[in-house]
Parts: sequence; structure tokens; C-alpha cells
Amino acid sequence: MTATALDRIPDLVAGLRHSHSQGVTRPASWRRAQLLQLRALLIERGADFEAALQADLGKSGTEAQLTEIGFLISEIDHALAHLAKWMRPRRVRVPLAVQPATARVVPEPLGVVLVIAPWNYPLMLALSPVIGALAAGNAVVVKPSELAPATSSLIAKLVPDALDRRAIVVIEGAVPETTALLAERFDHIFYTGNGRVGRIVARAAAEHLTPITLELGGKSPVYVDDSTPLDAAAKRIAWGKFMNAGQTCVAPDYVLGRPEVLRELAPLLAEAIHELYGSAPAKNPDYGRIVNAAQFERLTSYLGDGEILMGGEYDPADRFIAPTLLGNVDRAAAVMRDEIFGPILPLIEVSGVDDALALVSGRDKPLAAYVFSGDAAVRRRWEAETSSGALGFDVPALHLVVPDLPFGGVGESGMGAYHGERSFRVFSHEKAVLSKPLAPDTLAPTIMPPFTLGKDALVRRWLGKLLERSV
Ligand code: NAD
Repeated sequence: MTATALDRIPDLVAGLRHSHSQGVTRPASWRRAQLLQLRALLIERGADFEAALQADLGKSGTEAQLTEIGFLISEIDHALAHLAKWMRPRRVRVPLAVQPATARVVPEPLGVVLVIAPWNYPLMLALSPVIGALAAGNAVVVKPSELAPATSSLIAKLVPDALDRRAIVVIEGAVPETTALLAERFDHIFYTGNGRVGRIVARAAAEHLTPITLELGGKSPVYVDDSTPLDAAAKRIAWGKFMNAGQTCVAPDYVLGRPEVLRELAPLLAEAIHELYGSAPAKNPDYGRIVNAAQFERLTSYLGDGEILMGGEYDPADRFIAPTLLGNVDRAAAVMRDEIFGPILPLIEVSGVDDALALVSGRDKPLAAYVFSGDAAVRRRWEAETSSGALGFDVPALHLVVPDLPFGGVGESGMGAYHGERSFRVFSHEKAVLSKPLAPDTLAPTIMPPFTLGKDALVRRWLGKLLERSV
């Protein structure tokens, strides 16, 4: 990865602003062309992206296609299929008192937007917001994560060549480069990553009154009870947890269940892990690696926080940590304080659904919560009594591939949401356009001074009618 020279950053952003003000990014044809070019790039250079993701995260080619490249292509296709409709001004009703008039909501591009991406899905999370930004007609700066250097370099090398350089800039680098970027004025900042940096972004954005989207993380709980087939639940929990070696923002963080449920679930989880990654995950190409030494150290420090029910093996030279189940974990232990973001799954005993709901509600609002229960009343309670970015019944993580579901957090897990049409709306301003013909003039005789007795009576009659209406 070659960091962008700091002194070039203001000029690069100014260049984008110029392009935007010249209207380069506005035509529907330009937006379509960019999306099609990005699509072609992902297909033509798919093997290179796979190799970069393998280098950064030991990601298998299949997983790279499924969760990064393929995901992006399907988002592009969805945007292309709906762009004309999204861009169309929407007529809205005009109240009788304002008629004759027409009112429309007209989406317009915000201008120059900044996308800051994390390392865990380093391609998908850098480019997915870019799809929305381009569809909405913006110029974009994208800052991939320095912690996934192979993917960052490849994005920097390929994207500007494939797309319109006048309107898309890739900045590579770490804290100094991001800090320099944040000093610039943007029309929206879209940040994905942790809450600590989220606060830095929010402070910098406040300086320019720039709106922000913060896609953050958190500890996403899973609740399991015995009214559900535990073997099927175990398979899905293991899949959601150990994909990308647990480094997924919506991965199950910990499992809650009554002691007898967890006793039955633990061997089923072990069996599911075995089915997914075999008896030697270290040798299985489908199983990923921890992104760097710092994350590796942090994760292995959690292994002492409970009894290892399965896994626990690790190899610093390879940044490998086996899929691990932890039992007998103290609710106050570090593994239950921090977002785990790795392949360690604590099983936490609760006395029942009340205890589980109290535990989850007493913590920061998570990015997702998952419930495996066949009991409709239990499911209703989770929906009504907890708050989280998303709620998955009987399946983790999959909500993020439903384009019409908002993807985002609440409270500590973030603000704002995207995917599908929402990605277009995030990067658009909805302009209110009202058009009222000068003739006939309905304003001077009714609501403009001088307020004659007749006008006063009219206003009071109107108010009386408002008050008559039962609410
Ligand atoms: P990271 O370390 O790659 O940081 C993200 C970005 O912030 C990078 O581009 C980095 O350069 C920048 N950055 C880091 N320090 C900075 C600073 N001091 N000032 C300005 N910019 C700075 O990624 P991360 O934060 O470790 O990512 C993991 C976190 O992201 C987890 O909490 C995870 O749950 C969350 N996440 C959320 C989503 C989501 O969609 N909600 C997706 C993936 C990850």
C-alpha cells in the first residue's frame, strides 16, 4: 500500500468539487456508465480481488465471491434496475388551502462525499457505499482500510482507471491521511468501523455541519431455547459466527440459553463447526485468518475468560485461531465486555427469556440480535422489548442481502442505514419543489395583510374546522 501524499489531498478534493459543480456526475447516463464500469471491473478482475482478499484475510475464493464481489454485483444490478424510478421526482398532494399548485420531491446529488472503510470486508465495505453515492450522482472519495493493504492497493490501482477519474478518487493511507481528509469539507461522510473512530469522524463532520452515516459494531447476541430444533440452530449460528473467522460486524457475538439448552447446544455447535471446516480448520482453505498481530493478541487474550469447550488452538505465525466455544464465562469478563470480532463464541447461561432480555437491554444497542425459538410469544417479546439495528429469527447475518431492509445500527451500533434504495437516498438531498401559478391569485385575498374583518373571519373559520376534526 502506498499512502497518498498528504499535500495532494486538498487538491484532489477540490478537483472533485469542480467536477461536481460542472455537472459531470449529474446525468443518469453518467451514473449508469459508472455502475456498469464498476460491474465490469469486478467481473474482469475478480481473480485479482480474490487474491487480495486471500492475502489480507486468508479468505477463500468462494467466500470472497459470495460475500464481497458477488454482493457488490447484485447491489449494482439492483441500482441499475431501479435507478430511473429512484431519480424520478415524486409528486405529492397539495392541501386545499394552497391550491392551485403542484408539489414535487426532487432528489438531487449532495455533492462530494467521503467513504471510509474498514478491513474486515475490505472490498465490499469500501465499494458498497460508493454504489449508492454514484447512483445518486455524487463525486466520491473512498478511503479503504490500511489494515487490508492488498485490497486497498488493488482498489487504488484499478478503480480510478475503470471509472471517471474526474469524479472518483481513492486515497490510501492510515490515520494521518484520514485526518487530512476529515479536515476537508464534504457533503456527506459515510464511515464504517469502530465507535471510537466514529466519534472522531462525527467531531470532524460537525466542523463543517456535514451529515454522517456511522456503520459501527457491537455485541450481537443470540438467544436459543428448546422450542426449536437445536441441531439446525447450531448449524446456522456456527455459519454466521465463523464466516471470515468471526470478523463480521453482524456475526453472533455470544449465545444466551438456559443451562440445559446450552448443554445440549454445545456438542451440536461443535458438530456443526466440524461439518463446516473439518477436523483440522488450520488446513482448511475455507477457514479465514485473523487480520493482523494486534487483533490476534487481543483475541487470544480472551481464551482464558472461560472453559474451552472446543477449539482454543492458535498459531501466531499463521494468525490462525481455531473456531472456539467458551463455557463458564463470567458476564463481567473482557470477552463479554468488548465486541469479540473473531472466532470465539461464549455460551452464557441465563435463567430464561426474562433474564436474557434483561441482559441484552442492559447493554449498548447491538447491530443485530438473533433469536432461535419456535415460541411465537418469545419471538414477539424480543421484537417488542429489545432494540437493535436488525433482528433475525432463525438466521444470522442474512438480513443484509435483502435490499429493501435498512442496514445500519442504532445507538452505539451506529446511525443511518443503507442498501438498495436507501443507499441512493443517503447520498441524495430531497428537495421540496412547490410551484404555484401567479394567476389566479389566491393569496392576497386570503392570507396577506391587510387583515380585514373578512380575512380574519376566514382564518378563524379555517382554524375552527381544524379544531372540529377529531384526532
Ligand atoms: P479499521 O481499523 O480499518 O478502521 C476503519 C477506518 O477508520 C479505516 O479506514 C481507518 O484508516 C480509519 N481510522 C482509523 N483510525 C482513525 C483515526 N484516528 N482517525 C481517522 N480515521 C481513522 O476498522 P475497525 O474499526 O477495526 O473495524 C472493525 C469495526 O467495524 C468493528 O467494530 C465492526 O463491528 C465494525 N464494522 C461495522 C460494519 C457495519 O456495517 N456496521 C461493518 C464492518 C465492520
